[in-house]
Amino acid sequence: MKKVLEAKELNKYFYEPVEFHVLKDINLSIYSGEFASIVGPSGSGKSTLLYALSSLDREYKGQVLFDEIELKTLTNQKLAHLRNKSIGFIFQFHFLLADFTALDNVMLPGLKLGELTHEELEEKAMQKLDILGIADQATKNVNRLSGGQQQRVSIARALINEPRIIFCDEPTGNLDSKNAMNVFEMLKNLTREFDQTILMVTHDDSFSSETDRQIQLLDGKIIDRQ
Ligand code: ADP
Ligand code: MG
Repeated sequence: MKKVLEAKELNKYFYEPVEFHVLKDINLSIYSGEFASIVGPSGSGKSTLLYALSSLDREYKGQVLFDEIELKTLTNQKLAHLRNKSIGFIFQFHFLLADFTALDNVMLPGLKLGELTHEELEEKAMQKLDILGIADQATKNVNRLSGGQQQRVSIARALINEPRIIFCDEPTGNLDSKNAMNVFEMLKNLTREFDQTILMVTHDDSFSSETDRQIQLLDGKIIDRQ
């Protein structure tokens, strides 16, 4: 299988309020088509690791390679393009634009990329909303949707440019158990049916146990992997 992402000797420090070695000698690879999870207790460094792997943070020692290109070597412009084209993000809080419709929110990263006409993009956005089971909500303002629906819009948005990988940080963390289950099933479906590569941070063992592989963090170190 093709390697999408690789971390080599990744070490991360915070310097405020005191020096703190948060990620310690992280080596890991993520392969195309797999659904991997990062698990571990609160404060173990899961989000910090995800930010480094997903290019949101480049202030670390060591290397992160995306399709064999080291992220640190990219100019800001190239990095912005890579993020928009090749990476999807889903966070605990959805960061949707409140005054826009579901459809507009899903189309936005596609408009930024500028590879399709408005019409083509709209059609594609509708397909994504359909996969997520919320095509009927497309023209509604997102702040009128339920929490679970909003999170599904954010998944559709993450999919719009057909990214190589989707990073999720506690994507079900802000949902009740029924909606959490539903959103997780959607993510699983993306990997099973569409071969979408996903790396998900979660502290919910019932979800991580259903992923292909668990990467376990404790005090900034990988202590176990399957
Ligand atoms: P997790 O996502 O596993 O709960 P985090 O990656 O958010 O953990 O945080 C790991 C550790 O790093 C925690 O002790 C946290 O307090 C600390 N930390 C996170 N962000 C910062 C920051 N910007 N400055 C200083 N310390 C931070
Ligand atoms: Mg976190």
